Amino acid sequence: MIIAIDGPSASGKSTTAKGVAKFFGILHLDTGAMYRAITLEYLKYLDISYDSQDFIDLVKEIEINFNRDNQITLNGLCVEQDIRKQDVTSKVSEVSSISIVRKKMVEKQREIARNIDCVIEGRDIGSVVFPNAEFKFYLDAKAEIRAARRLKELTNQDKSVTLDDLITQIKRRDFLDTNRKISPLIRTKEATIIDTSSMSVDEQIEQIVKIINNK
Ligand code: C5P
Repeated sequence: MIIAIDGPSASGKSTTAKGVAKFFGILHLDTGAMYRAITLEYLKYLDISYDSQDFIDLVKEIEINFNRDNQITLNGLCVEQDIRKQDVTSKVSEVSSISIVRKKMVEKQREIARNIDCVIEGRDIGSVVFPNAEFKFYLDAKAEIRAARRLKELTNQDKSVTLDDLITQIKRRDFLDTNRKISPLIRTKEATIIDTSSMSVDEQIEQIVKIINNK
């Protein structure tokens, strides 16, 4: 069973996907973390262009996995904290629009979820990665509410960022993610749309679990 949860940033996908996976005792796969990890690596070599051989090599050689605690690893090292930092966040939509990046990540996501039950969250899960997923959800919320959620999550290091900065950043990422040529963020017609603007995490999890159990 594949449960696909798509939606824009800070729409509640991660906490909801984790909760749903915990409820059913199955794997939770955060595909955004994978795009963030590749962006973290790219930040070390900002001078290389996306169409260069160096970039192709970087993507080919990079090893992205999840450890036993389901935390993301980059070339063997846990980067769960580093991938959430602002420098990664502001670059990730650009890096994730590159076709060789998407090809490698999608292959890896299909490999991880092959033959197992899994809750997978991202932008293109129900549309591209697992178009035949048994369950598809699309979570959304107003940009201002999503930015306020992000503000609460910021680490001490990123505390200089204001709510207005985050609203601008979230709207920019929404624009890039929904307008890119390859695998843009879309609501598939089969997806159940859940507006989380005024919902608690528990309510979000409950609603999804209920829909799944009723089928
Ligand atoms: O979900 P999260 O905000 O961590 O995702 C970070 C970025 O990774 C998104 O803004 C998007 O550009 C990219 N992404 C993607 N496809 C996915 C998951 C994330 O392009 N399936």
